[in-house]
Amino acid sequence: MNKLPIDNIKTLHDIIDQINIGITVLDSRNHVIFWNQFMVKHSGISESDLTGKNLFDVFTYLPRQWLELKLKSVRLIKNYSFVSWTQRPYLFRFNHNRMISGEGIEYMHQDCTLIPVHNSDTGETYVCIAIHDMTDVVASQQKIIEINDINKTLEHMTHHDAMTAIYNRDYVEKQIEYEFNKSKRYGNLFSLILLDIDKFKNINDTFGHIAGDEVLKNTASTIKSQLRSSDVFGRYGGEEFLVLLPETNLANTASLSMRIRESIERMTTVYDNTEIKITISLGVVQFRPDIKDYLQMVHEADIALYHSKQNGRNAVTQYKITGCNLLCCALPEANPD
Ligand code: GH3
Ligand code: MG
Ligand code: MG
Repeated sequence: MNKLPIDNIKTLHDIIDQINIGITVLDSRNHVIFWNQFMVKHSGISESDLTGKNLFDVFTYLPRQWLELKLKSVRLIKNYSFVSWTQRPYLFRFNHNRMISGEGIEYMHQDCTLIPVHNSDTGETYVCIAIHDMTDVVASQQKIIEINDINKTLEHMTHHDAMTAIYNRDYVEKQIEYEFNKSKRYGNLFSLILLDIDKFKNINDTFGHIAGDEVLKNTASTIKSQLRSSDVFGRYGGEEFLVLLPETNLANTASLSMRIRESIERMTTVYDNTEIKITISLGVVQFRPDIKDYLQMVHEADIALYHSKQNGRNAVTQYKITGCNLLCCALPEANPD
């Protein structure tokens, strides 16, 4: 086996000079006694210009107090000390080699190892500072964070309605299907509320489409504020909303529906100095094992909602196999259409 000719001190020196790691050796007074090509290249200061000088006199930006203490303890304890870029992005303010700008990385990020080197001839302990360029690692970590953020945004967009910021129909349907299948298998109950704004076309015709949009947003946030975090609330159509209430029976769902109806009746949307009032009609249904699939359950909620509309609007109706049950409704309008 061929051995490298590293018994030659000049060869060793050349290797250390050429490696892609910054090497600085300091004596006990922190004067530079060795400074390799990596450090020359990145600092622009030659070894001969630096040798014999105090490191802190040349690099005045170095965190002197902190680094002096660290060097002192390395000499004293005669043990390695490591400074990760995650704690301190860099020691030496070097430019990095990355071509792409705008990554937000100003200077070369560095991992630094402080190594005690004992000189048996003089009895002095030097410290070797080894600098590893971590900029590529930092850049790829930043890319991963960026990609994760983009994925989160895309996921949010896929599940949410852009205007009201609540869930969209697709997501709500998937959740109902999931809850429905769970109930079929394990027998736990859940309920649905389907609700629709009354005479919303009139709102648009009277106040304009943008005012109508404001009413939709206000309606969504008013309803959301009354729900639990486990409830799934989404925009089911233009001015139609759906609430999925896990582990909730018909009686509790009906009383929540009545509270929601009242809160919307009390709600005022101010647009262009005009106060806009609306009402909603609601249909309520509870899971039963005889329901064929989740679509049938939504359809039953729709039948109940239609019953509310037929009975003067601004009302809540429970779906029952024996017939719909109108729970509450406001006084009939003076002049219904
Ligand atoms: P009903 O009480 O029977 O539900 O009457 P309605 O007028 O609410 O019902 P209809 O289905 O006739 O009209 C719904 C209206 O909702 C029509 C449509 O222009 C409006 N709409 C649907 N989506 C939006 C939206 O995103 N913004 C606005 N401003 N209006 C919308
Ligand atoms: Mg409507
Ligand atoms: Mg509608």
